Amino acid sequence: MVNKNFLKKFLHYISFDTQSNEESLTCPSTAKQLLLGQELVKELKEMGLDNAFIDEHGYVYAYLEANNKSDEVIGLIAHMDTSDEASGKDVKPQIIDSYDGKPIIVNQELGIILDPKEFNLLNEQIGHTLITTDGTTLLGADDKSGVAIIMTCVEEIIKNNLKHCGLIITFTPDEEIGRGADLFNISYYEKHHCHKAYTIDGDIPSHIECENFNAASCKVVIKGKSIHPGSAYQKMINSQIVAMEFFNTLSPLLRPECTKGYEGFNHLTSFNGTVSETIMHFIIRNHDMAKFNEQKKMFYDLQKKINDKYHKELVKVEIKDSYYNMKEKIDLDKSILKKAELALLSQGLDVKYVPIRGGTDGARLSFMGILCPNLGTGGQNFHGPFEYLDVDLASIMVEVLKELVKNY
Ligand SMILES: [Zn+2]
Repeated sequence: MVNKNFLKKFLHYISFDTQSNEESLTCPSTAKQLLLGQELVKELKEMGLDNAFIDEHGYVYAYLEANNKSDEVIGLIAHMDTSDEASGKDVKPQIIDSYDGKPIIVNQELGIILDPKEFNLLNEQIGHTLITTDGTTLLGADDKSGVAIIMTCVEEIIKNNLKHCGLIITFTPDEEIGRGADLFNISYYEKHHCHKAYTIDGDIPSHIECENFNAASCKVVIKGKSIHPGSAYQKMINSQIVAMEFFNTLSPLLRPECTKGYEGFNHLTSFNGTVSETIMHFIIRNHDMAKFNEQKKMFYDLQKKINDKYHKELVKVEIKDSYYNMKEKIDLDKSILKKAELALLSQGLDVKYVPIRGGTDGARLSFMGILCPNLGTGGQNFHGPFEYLDVDLASIMVEVLKELVKNY
């Protein structure tokens, strides 16, 4: 069943171009994100949330007092920006009423076809209302579906006077460039005694995501010795060749293309070299902290091994941690998962816990004092022209949230 209120809001929000930009040093990284933020504040005020505001960094907050005698306050969080991997300007949504199970030709010319043979989930979405792109942009279901689910839920609980615990509604900028938690107003949450929240930013609604990678970035600088090749005999050290030696000594089984589920990886993201200097960048990922530390140690061990072999300090490894697995924090209070599980079950969804093979703002928030697992939005194939939204599933998530806030 399609929630028409949700659908209307979603289509409105994706008409805003809110692409974030990693190169920018400001927050929000792009001024256009503020336009959606201001619109959301206006709508929240129209619903009766007079305290809604957008701060100088482009974060939107609003507080709704409990009416179910509960002392609990929970946060509902979604991000407003879209990925820079594809344009989010002039999105032309294509609405498919009652999907018939056949391949969806999104854009013949560009070869953008959603074939259920390749995108298996479509087989379970027959009869649903789907929204695709026209093949030239992303859709923005990530995460405007999350924004619209929260907005619809809040509007309906106020309008119909439904029971709910205390709520903080938050919309963040710049999640896609990893900065959504940077200027998050923790003291606003503390003021309202709120230490639990949910991001609505996943895909499949029955999936609860409460585990993510431990993550680090690693820079390997290798110095060589540049000599004219004609007179290089037993003198030249080509840093690029040493770099390849370094790379080839790392386990090939720990490359992203060889790993899935709970398997971590070391991913070479760039390799730039000349004879005299080569710089490699890696990202290091593992859900398990001990294995994560072991992977980092491998890099340092390799530095020593190669430097010993050449009797020179050719290799320098620098590793910086980026974020950690939120599971460590969520394990301290699993009620946050139990409540979500019950709300999902109440809407007939089978719950599955799925490890995120990446990070989320919720992971960082969990280490900043707000436990924050991630729930689904009904969207699929984020960040590109194959993105689509299952409106029926998103509509179910509106009901799930209503149930969730009632039970706290
Ligand atoms: Zn997202």
